[in-house]
Amino acid sequence: MAQRPLNLCERLYLTEVVKGIALTTKHFFVNFPRHVARGIGIKVGKGETVTIEYPEERRPFARRLRTRHRLTRRTDGSPRCVACMMCETICPAHCIHIIATENPDPNIEKMPKSFDIDIGVCVFCGFCVEACPEDAIRMDTGVVELASYTREGMIYRIDQLLS
Ligand code: SF4
Ligand code: SF4
Repeated sequence: MAQRPLNLCERLYLTEVVKGIALTTKHFFVNFPRHVARGIGIKVGKGETVTIEYPEERRPFARRLRTRHRLTRRTDGSPRCVACMMCETICPAHCIHIIATENPDPNIEKMPKSFDIDIGVCVFCGFCVEACPEDAIRMDTGVVELASYTREGMIYRIDQLLS
């Protein structure tokens, strides 16, 4: 699409600077008293404020947002994962590590003995979810606060992923 040519006002650089400063100043005087009032516990409307008072206030996530992984279960409570290694193979960050074991159910060949995801390395691409033939792994927990003081704390084990 062709770019709209600038009018004279827009070409006069300083006019636009003044307009920008005026807008910012307006937002400041409209919003600052609101933030102070909310800070001391007085309930006021949001007005034109765009700041989210995290963590007290949270913005709703988009339904498709990829958040921390979870492993799904069958109706009997056992993991749906059949340790096929598709997710481990496709993972571009090489952050999934699975050790397979025999499944006691003769109809299912394998199950994961351990299933680790190093969230500190994960790039949240969602390939693991796409690749899974069993709908055994999803990224719909809504958990995005994943910080830890240790590298070890960033590794999610099978019991955490199943819970
Ligand atoms: S989201 Fe992507 S990077 Fe993270 S574990 Fe899945 S495949 Fe690997
Ligand atoms: S792709 Fe699915 S079934 Fe296969 S190992 Fe990963 S989570 Fe398990």
